[in-house]
Amino acid sequence: MDGLDGRPGQARGRTQPGALCLSLRLGFRTMAHQQTSPRSDELEFGGPLGTAAMLLLLPVVLFHLLLTCHSGPCSLLSLPSELPPASAFWSPWALLLLLLWLGLQATLYLLPMGKVSEGRMLRDKSHLRYPINGFRCLGLTALLVGLGLAGGLPLGSLPELLLPLASAAAAIAFILSLLLYLKSFTVPPSALAPGGNSGNIVYDFFLGRELNPRFGSFDLKYFCELRPGMIGWALINLAVLLREAERHGGRPSLAMGLVNAFQLVYVVDALWNEEAILTTMDIIHDGFGFMLAFGDLAWVPFTYSLQAQFLLNHPQSLELPVAGAICLLFAIGYFIFRGANTQKNTFRRNPSDPSVAGLETIPTATGRRLLVSGWWGMVRHPNYLGDLIMALAWSLPCGVTHLLPYFYVVYFTILLVHREDRDERQCLQKYGLAWREYCTRVPYRIVPYIY
Ligand code: NDP
Repeated sequence: MDGLDGRPGQARGRTQPGALCLSLRLGFRTMAHQQTSPRSDELEFGGPLGTAAMLLLLPVVLFHLLLTCHSGPCSLLSLPSELPPASAFWSPWALLLLLLWLGLQATLYLLPMGKVSEGRMLRDKSHLRYPINGFRCLGLTALLVGLGLAGGLPLGSLPELLLPLASAAAAIAFILSLLLYLKSFTVPPSALAPGGNSGNIVYDFFLGRELNPRFGSFDLKYFCELRPGMIGWALINLAVLLREAERHGGRPSLAMGLVNAFQLVYVVDALWNEEAILTTMDIIHDGFGFMLAFGDLAWVPFTYSLQAQFLLNHPQSLELPVAGAICLLFAIGYFIFRGANTQKNTFRRNPSDPSVAGLETIPTATGRRLLVSGWWGMVRHPNYLGDLIMALAWSLPCGVTHLLPYFYVVYFTILLVHREDRDERQCLQKYGLAWREYCTRVPYRIVPYIY
């Protein structure tokens, strides 16, 4: 590994006079950065007001969803009739469990296994290196959980701890974001994210100031993106399935089996194709702040597992032909999602790869080309289309009596429409006229002939 985090610019940033105390150094650097950092002029997410509202709303929505899901009527649009006592939201055991989980995933991340890949070139012309061992970490986690279950680990009791676990995850995400915000003042301007440096504390805290915060070779954003939260999501699903099986004579329902299977495919796929996240917006554009920390550590595991949690408390029967149709829908979504992501990632990594070399492209002034045939000639974000179809497929086993299992579809549609819009603006900035030509040749954004 090259230096502290592989960025020559960071090493330069640390050559401050040793005699100065830390606070003076921080103050000095803050002033220096304010003079030289690229400022984020175009504010997203409604600017400081919008991000302040999201800072409050995201945890409130998370707990509202969890409480509603475990209430009898399970009505998303009304408050649960009985709120549990404050003590139900906090448990030192849940915090300990979560810290152990994070420690386990961090240890697995550091194991020297699998290949190491280079990320996109950074503004200071360096490349960071990333361990591509997520799938192996998932395998080792599965092995440990399997051994634990064989040894009597009461995983089926985990659903009782979901509320305090979610509180602990939210608290850890908040503290982590605070530390990340402070850390961002110790790095040179070239290490800042283009979008998270507005000078407004709330906005920058939410978006994340530093692009790739690292301790040594340990990349905090890359670690959080796919490991503790995503694998945690699959583990919560499994725990809920075991709980349901315990309640119903040892066998989970078909609906629970489908939800678990679909979402496990999604998690396994993400980790199997871990290298592909090196070309996604989260890694190449967004800083690491509250948005991603809370999203990765609290939002993903506890709200993405809502369908399974819903089925535990509101069992649904599913006819085989309906289940077959849902499987087909999921397969179509997965085919589009995986095909589009693999095509773009392969093209970005090696445009002369035989699987993409024959595709039609548009040249851009940056030297990078834009795909204009294949999946990326169908709509401008085919991967989002596939993702949305899969989201619908894993909500349908929950039946149509309640809105809550479809929260993910609604939220995810809003997220992806907004994300697509952000990406379009970034691509217009990057590619100018070439992007306009792409939009003319591929007029639809996500859904052919509709949007
Ligand atoms: P993308 O992987 O779609 O990356 C967008 C980038 O791709 C653009 O900025 C551009 O970057 C490049 N690109 C766009 N059009 C073309 C083209 N025609 N030819 C070549 N390159 C192009 O974005 P995301 O990071 O948003 O999504 C990655 C995946 O993650 C998606 O499948 C998405 O559905 C999923 N996702 C899932 C979430 C969840 O919570 N489940 C949340 C967010 C995303 P450049 O040109 O610089 O390479």
